[in-house]
Amino acid sequence: MSVSDQLFTRAKQLIPGGVNSPVRAFRSVGGTPFFVKAARGATLVTADDRELIDFVCTWGPAIHGHNHPRIKAAIATALEHGTSFGTPNPYEVEMAELIVKFVPSIQKVRMCNSGTEATMSAIRLARGYTKRDKIIKFSGCYHGHSDSLLIKAGSGALTHGHPDSAGVPASFAAETVVLPFNDRGALAAAFAANQGQIACVILEAYCGNVGFIMPDPGYLAFVRALTAKHGTVLIFDEVMTGFRIAKGGVQEREKITPDLTCLGKIIGGGLPVGAFGGRADIMDLVAPLGPVYQAGTLSGNPLAMAAGIAGLQLLEELNPYPRLDELGRQLRDAVLAACRAKGIPVQVPQCGSMFSIFFTPTPVRDYATALNGDAKLFGRFFHACLARGVYLAPSAYEAGFISTAHDGAAIAKACDVLAESIRSL
Ligand SMILES: *Cc1c(COP(=O)(O)O)cnc(C)c1O
Repeated sequence: MSVSDQLFTRAKQLIPGGVNSPVRAFRSVGGTPFFVKAARGATLVTADDRELIDFVCTWGPAIHGHNHPRIKAAIATALEHGTSFGTPNPYEVEMAELIVKFVPSIQKVRMCNSGTEATMSAIRLARGYTKRDKIIKFSGCYHGHSDSLLIKAGSGALTHGHPDSAGVPASFAAETVVLPFNDRGALAAAFAANQGQIACVILEAYCGNVGFIMPDPGYLAFVRALTAKHGTVLIFDEVMTGFRIAKGGVQEREKITPDLTCLGKIIGGGLPVGAFGGRADIMDLVAPLGPVYQAGTLSGNPLAMAAGIAGLQLLEELNPYPRLDELGRQLRDAVLAACRAKGIPVQVPQCGSMFSIFFTPTPVRDYATALNGDAKLFGRFFHACLARGVYLAPSAYEAGFISTAHDGAAIAKACDVLAESIRSL
């Protein structure tokens, strides 16, 4: 039995499903997960000493690859001075200054500990600001696991949703409207059906949690205009795209100004961090200045701030975005060519360091068209790649990520492996 299998057997006895976050369990691709004992650069080292080229990048945070020397050194320096103070610390100020400098729409920012906390708090703030209860989200957009957001479209889809998890009260779902992404008519109809009731629209401006999906040209501007017209707060959840699609996220690339933005993943440099920020007049409603309560014992933690600051500074120094996009296109082209040769229909949406491989003939522009993808075929493809040393996300509905540590050789090898794996299907 491999070391990973032994660990998984022990884990399953004590941890539900053997994992501390469900997608790690490999349920959607079959098989059992491998354990990782170390990671450096673009490489994961498994508990059984296999080396894998990693395109999951800890689900997004590792834009500089794993254990980057600068981030490691920043954590070590912070560690010398202590792990947590429960008081304001200097790193928090530097972090806030960097975020405001990078992200065009953010005037003030509050740190928290995860993306889930960021979206949950931003929604509470939007409700407090507008004094309205209902929110709009989109099918396939994931915003963490808080109650108001684990909702799917229901029968009266324009006015209320249904719980998408056991344990979410139907009364909470009644406050969340779930619409198809990229559908202007549906959004206009939902505003018409809920006049004066919508506190916020929250979306992944580029979706990364149902695979990677870009908005149609003009869609984000349409959402911005409609929310402004209805006095509704527009929240961009850039937990995944922030600092990745561009230094200032999707909002910089698309030149759209949301009212609030949620951040996470990259901002922690591999440690647990989240943040939400935006217009100063809205942010000033957050406690202790205002009536919207939000707090965190470890928020602004010095180690996490030091790691995140080092990561953001590196992005500023390197401006890696043009190169990451070039690497992304190489991967995309390799997959497209191999699938064409083999006669397998495929869509490979890609922007910068984010990409997805959907085995479907139809363009993917929302949740429904993402589900057209052949998930069984993806499972076989995933395992074919893994057997050849390339680790893609273990689900047909997750984005792939490239880091600055993926050098030309790693990408060339990965292109070969992807093509060979497609030929083997
Ligand atoms: C990962 C993610 C979250 C949740 O962040 P956690 O840190 O896992 O709680 C929220 N929104 C988006 C867009 C994400 O990708």
